[in-house]
This record gives sequence, structure tokens and C-alpha cells, in this order.
Amino acid sequence: MRLCLALSLLLCASTPAAAGACLGVNSQTGQSQSVLEVYRTGTSHPRRFFAEATHDRATGRPQIVYYSRYGTAPAYFKSFVRQHECCHHSGHRDEIEANCCALRRMGLSASGLAALRTYIVARDVNSQTIVDYQGQGSLFWSKTASRCLGSAQR
Ligand SMILES: [Zn+2]
Repeated sequence: MRLCLALSLLLCASTPAAAGACLGVNSQTGQSQSVLEVYRTGTSHPRRFFAEATHDRATGRPQIVYYSRYGTAPAYFKSFVRQHECCHHSGHRDEIEANCCALRRMGLSASGLAALRTYIVARDVNSQTIVDYQGQGSLFWSKTASRCLGSAQR
């Protein structure tokens, strides 16, 4: 019994670190606080976003809202989306910079990076433009890779 309790405490204590702290600034108070994660995965974002970093209108609390494309994405891509949005909340406004920040936080292996690239290219993921066109995923990845990764990782 005591061992079980100790184990569950250890699991609880390690969960936030494993998931990665996600902090942002309250738009009303200016204070740093944990980001609230809101799942609207039954709703399609009008601009096909997986998620977006916003603030609660009533309280100013930083939040990430997840939409339907997020709901059907594989776990490794969900992690990338979460880190990307957390990076927006930590001050990275530029989309490629938010990708670099997310990749630094994730510390992916070569195969993890390859899976991410494949998904972004195949699904034409691009958070830089509202215009939807074929091939935008590979352009988005090449910009990300050239700015965020060393030549050996690209
Ligand atoms: Zn973004």
C-alpha cells in the first residue's frame, strides 16, 4: 500500500515535467500562469488550424484551443502542436521560430524528426498562410528545417 502510494506520487510528480511546462502571460494582469488547454475537437477551425494560442476573454488566462484536425493527428504530432502553441505563449510570435522552440523542447531523434516531416508534408501543414494549396507542407518544413535544424538533421 505504501509502495503504491509512493509510486503514484512519483507518477503524478513526473507528469508535468514529462508533458513539459506550458506557461503564458495573463493578458489582463500581466502575470505568468499555466496555460489552460481547451479541446474543441468536434469543431473544424475555419482556417484549418490544428490549434491556436489565445486568451480567455473573461479572465485573460492564456489558453490553447485544439480543433478537429488535432483530434485525429498522431500522438507525436499532437506533442509538436502543443509545444508550438506553448512557444507562442512564451513569446515566439513568428511561426517558424515557434517551430524551432517546439523542436528544441521536444529533442526528437532522427526518426522522430523524419516522422514529423513526413506528416507535415503529407497533410500540407502550414500555419503561416490562410491560403490553402498543395505543396505548402513541404515549403513549411523546408523553412523550419533550414532555420531550426543543423545540416546533419535536415
Ligand atoms: Zn503558430
